[in-house]
Amino acid sequence: MEIIDSRNVLQSIVKEFRLQGTSVGLVPTMGALHEGHLSLIQCSNKENDITIVSIFVNPTQFNDQEDYQRYPRIISDDIKKLESVKCDFLFTPTKEEMYPEEDKREFDFGNIDKVMEGSHRPGHFRGVALIVSKLFEIVNPHKAYFGEKDFQQVAIIKHLTKQLNFDIEIIPCQIIREKDGLAMSSRNILLSEDQRKNVSLISKTLFESVNKMKLLNPTETKEWVIRKINENQFLKVEYFEIVDSETLESVNEWSQSKNITGCIAVHVGNIRLIDNIRFYS
Ligand code: AMP
Repeated sequence: MEIIDSRNVLQSIVKEFRLQGTSVGLVPTMGALHEGHLSLIQCSNKENDITIVSIFVNPTQFNDQEDYQRYPRIISDDIKKLESVKCDFLFTPTKEEMYPEEDKREFDFGNIDKVMEGSHRPGHFRGVALIVSKLFEIVNPHKAYFGEKDFQQVAIIKHLTKQLNFDIEIIPCQIIREKDGLAMSSRNILLSEDQRKNVSLISKTLFESVNKMKLLNPTETKEWVIRKINENQFLKVEYFEIVDSETLESVNEWSQSKNITGCIAVHVGNIRLIDNIRFYS
């Protein structure tokens, strides 16, 4: 695996590969890698000749500075993990390399960046769009891989790709979970032992809610999920929304859409976790 921190170097290497007809997959990450990230890399390896992984804790997507400072950074562990799967290039730019000057671009994604993460983390998706568009310009991969754990992010990136005319196929990959159902996340390592024991209630409740939908309408299902999780002293639901998986508009009747997802954000002390569950697809 070659480690590169210069945009120009990476750009010219990939250009050369593409000229030779080599297919290129990109997996953007913020590091503190876990099985969820590695699953994206494995998907890319299956579908491309070479895989490029980026690790960059992107300051513009953090609406909370403390969250940015606290975000785990364990690059030497990450390198070991990347060497255990096939990764051809690791891109680890500095902040100055990615933002040589302030990037003032604004984006409009209609409804999809106004709800859920968009309304609770102002500026978050603008930051995601800034960094992903920069990575796409530098790497120009054939395919880019994103996890469905960040369900709304996948929708944003599909729109971004269309709006900016990137000729890149966006490949969503399924959520990888711990044995007890907890969605893997880099933030999980920040949980105390007690918090860790209790957070499995989030995914358990989401799984149960799929059965509840036979008895309850979407509004009642939402209330049931929020109540059940909030009953736990360690957990505080920020939102749970049941939405059309494409438009991300709220669903009031199960018959309203064939493709419905429930998305949740939960505070566990000062750590914020997200997860989601498919009701129909
Ligand atoms: P992050 O490092 O958190 O920005 O995540 C980098 C990529 O890995 C994003 O596309 C995430 O959606 C994806 N990802 C994170 N956790 C998981 C997971 N548990 N399962 C699948 N993909 C994940």
